[in-house]
Amino acid sequence: MNDDIIQSLVNVVGSDCIIQDLEKREPFGQDAGEDVRTPDLVVEPTRSEQIQEVMRLADRFHFPVTPRGLGTGLAGGAVPLFGGVLLSLAGMNRILAVDRKNLIAVVEPGVVTIDLKQAVMAEGLFYPPDPASLDTCSIGGNAATNAGGPACVKYGTTRDFILGLEAVLPSGEKINAGVQTRKGVVGYDLLHLLVGSEGTLGIITKLILRLLPLPPAIMTLVAFFPHLSTAMDAVIRILTGGHVPCAIEFLDHKCLELVGDLLPFDNARSAGAFLLIETDGIQGVVEREIEEIGTLCVECGAADVMLAPDSRKRRRMWEIRREVALRIEQASPVYVPEDVVVPMGRIADFVACLPEFERQYGMKIYSFGHAGDGNIHLNITADDPARRKMIDRGIEAVLIRVLSMGGTISGEHGIGMAKKRFLSLELAPENIRLQREIKKIFDPKGLLNPGKIFDIDS
Ligand SMILES: Cc1cc2nc3c(=O)[nH]c(=O)nc-3n(C[C@H](O)[C@H](O)[C@H](O)COP(=O)(O)OP(=O)(O)OC[C@H]3O[C@@H](n4cnc5c(N)ncnc54)[C@H](O)[C@@H]3O)c2cc1C
Repeated sequence: MNDDIIQSLVNVVGSDCIIQDLEKREPFGQDAGEDVRTPDLVVEPTRSEQIQEVMRLADRFHFPVTPRGLGTGLAGGAVPLFGGVLLSLAGMNRILAVDRKNLIAVVEPGVVTIDLKQAVMAEGLFYPPDPASLDTCSIGGNAATNAGGPACVKYGTTRDFILGLEAVLPSGEKINAGVQTRKGVVGYDLLHLLVGSEGTLGIITKLILRLLPLPPAIMTLVAFFPHLSTAMDAVIRILTGGHVPCAIEFLDHKCLELVGDLLPFDNARSAGAFLLIETDGIQGVVEREIEEIGTLCVECGAADVMLAPDSRKRRRMWEIRREVALRIEQASPVYVPEDVVVPMGRIADFVACLPEFERQYGMKIYSFGHAGDGNIHLNITADDPARRKMIDRGIEAVLIRVLSMGGTISGEHGIGMAKKRFLSLELAPENIRLQREIKKIFDPKGLLNPGKIFDIDS
């Protein structure tokens, strides 16, 4: 980035929106993953027109631009692999409208997810997507990664709540994709191509989100099982028995050993598996439903089933559930978070085969996650960083097993930089070729977030 380019950027976005100082740029060189690369310049736009100007300059001077929300991604998606401009969307954080009559919200991409959830809740409305990082990540980042969370089992992922969006393309042109209505089938579905594209096709500058009425009641149940297999039997019985809980989370026995002391239950550390189940909906109905679910858990062999007695304990349990990964990371010199998905009926079989990989590759694997949709957070750890190459081979072997069971290598975190070497394990060459062609149509010069999902063309 020479002085001419920097001056041109200052001219179009203003010096207030530009960070040149190395110390201030450094924090923008990493997300929550392992990869690091300090950007040459950070641009903090407040309007989409500034982003258009930045992209026009990138097109003219040929420098890379990497969009960033709040940097909580786990796949290195927001790391500026080739330097250039890091475009931080954090300052575009206005909730532009909450429309109660039409059940929609219009937001800028930098809105923190929890702020949106709370703002619509104050209006008696509900925005269900709930990534565990919800108090530190942005809606734009959620859209770019199609973030999910415990509520997916009932409500789906972020994608299911985006009706339309505005995006700036690598050329500097702005497009609208999708609709503001509940339905719309006009032309190819560019909306759902941009959602989940990890900032490689366009920069999301505005979102039209679908809202629901806030469910008036919520009930939480916890159940301890002697084995994960019995817990998973219960999950299948619940879901095939006509119940649609809004969360079914599990912890395996290794996670329980690690965080069991935090859980407000005496026997937590000695159990084989733990389920946290919630139902939401109409008062009276949710109580009946959670009772039936409790009975199913007991029938499937739960040693203990308890209702969360009050909202304080419920909140605490969720905090602990969110803390699991943090504790694992703190306890492990080598820590690699993977987020595979297997068909629900195969979760127990899959987790049961993990000790084989642990023995063979010298790693310890903690598993927890969304039992209701098969998304397992595999926290792969080891004591000795010098064994990293072996651990990476172990990870590949685990992913191959996931695929052989009909699963997928990522349910939430995306590919970014961290998983691009595994892409061809899952996608056939023709599929990858088509995806690369799509990238070329949007971004023929490879300016936007280059080197993510695929390597750049040589
Ligand atoms: C403790 C913790 C828990 C987590 N739990 C979950 C979870 O439960 N579910 C889940 O899905 N993820 C989870 N994540 C991962 C992460 O929080 C999500 O991927 C989140 O959606 C990223 O949002 P962000 O604003 O931090 O985006 P960033 O990390 O800044 O960026 C992520 C990607 O989106 C692109 N991007 C960001 N904003 C835009 C934009 N406006 N336009 C175009 N591209 C953009 C970036 O280029 C990058 O590729 C977790 C992470 C942590 C650290």
